[in-house]
Amino acid sequence: MSQLDDLYRRVIMDHYKTPRNRGELEEGSVTINLNNPTCGDRISLQLVLEEGIVRNVRFTGEGCSISMSSASMMTEAVMGKHAAEALEMADKFSSMMKGDSADSADFGDYEDIEALSGVSKFPARIKCATLAWNALRKGVEHGSGKHEGIEE
Ligand code: ZN
Repeated sequence: MSQLDDLYRRVIMDHYKTPRNRGELEEGSVTINLNNPTCGDRISLQLVLEEGIVRNVRFTGEGCSISMSSASMMTEAVMGKHAAEALEMADKFSSMMKGDSADSADFGDYEDIEALSGVSKFPARIKCATLAWNALRKGVEHGSGKHEGIEE
């Protein structure tokens, strides 16, 4: 295992063991529930969007280290960002999963996400990594601060 892989693995395990923005929001949120049946990952994502800005974001759920660490990183990356910028990051994350090189600037200088770039080499795990980003995309596309539940 290369040193870089080892570093990436540590970043992933750190987010898995100490997830950021895990929990539930009370008011004015959009809730998206998604799961990844191939691995058994489940995520419930809550967003507060105000004037096109992601004011707050929380997630709950359970699953493998890839899915949960990706959710933790995603919430940190998009917090306080414009909805359009958040969607752009979701697109960049998708291209990273297709094997395109990751540039930390792509995620607003939030470098932890690069730790997931190696997942592109394991096609069976890509859905684990993209689950949270798909939930974000749905939330931003549907949401404007209304209470709304979306189940898939
Ligand atoms: Zn998984």
